[in-house]
Amino acid sequence: MPSWSAETLSQTRVKANPVSPVRVRQGDLFYFSVRVGPRATSVQGELRHRTIPFFKAEAPGQFRALIGVDLADPPSREDLRVEVSKDDGSVEQRHYTVEVLPVHFATQELTVPKNYVDLDEETAKRAEEEQEKILQSLSKVTAQKFWEGRFIMPVEGKIAGTFGLRRIMNGEPRSPHSGEDINAPKGTEVHATNEGVVVLVGDFFFSGKSIVLDHGLGLFTMYFHLDEVDVAEGERIHKGVVLGKVGATGRATGPHLHWGMRIDGARVNPLSVLNLE
Ligand SMILES: [Zn+2]
Repeated sequence: MPSWSAETLSQTRVKANPVSPVRVRQGDLFYFSVRVGPRATSVQGELRHRTIPFFKAEAPGQFRALIGVDLADPPSREDLRVEVSKDDGSVEQRHYTVEVLPVHFATQELTVPKNYVDLDEETAKRAEEEQEKILQSLSKVTAQKFWEGRFIMPVEGKIAGTFGLRRIMNGEPRSPHSGEDINAPKGTEVHATNEGVVVLVGDFFFSGKSIVLDHGLGLFTMYFHLDEVDVAEGERIHKGVVLGKVGATGRATGPHLHWGMRIDGARVNPLSVLNLE
């Protein structure tokens, strides 16, 4: 793996019931609870055009949502709109403020052989189709919530601190690194970070042998560059089960796990979920 400097990632403990305005860093996640009373049947939110499904909390009369801020969302004060639907057919609108705080993501400048970035037509087409397939798998929101309690680390290894890294190859800006890399020897077991369903298994040009897990309510985790995949599409997965083994398949400079997380379309730092309960 190339070496680079990266900002220390957020270790902020996010309160379960934040008060408006909620302060959250680019690429972070937070739980948000609303008190709705006994007549509420469903709750839905919207933040920066992302639809946010709420679920019934354990506390009576409350709904809760796990909300993400994309790593490229600009620092600003955002309106979190919440709609509470009630059993008499009425809908109550509420507004909360979310303040997005800036993160100074490191920049990595690389000079690589021209053919490394300029793919031939066939490969470019393949990579594009695969990217579309991955995005498709991340776009189907399951109404059921599978995840429960705390998330766990998928692998034992060294965290590279590469989430949000701005990559510049041969002077041209590329898309930011939207996951976290964990360096571990080839063959190290990779575990499911929470309850979910396998929605994609593939062997792709960029991400190599890959798995996408759907944790329900718009939350997904991704496991890339695997040496071996031990699960199949459609399988219901329990927290901690072995999904596969660490490898260096696809475009990787050495064995590591690329762990990615998306929620309602927002690319978030998977490490930030570990602080939540
Ligand atoms: Zn990566």
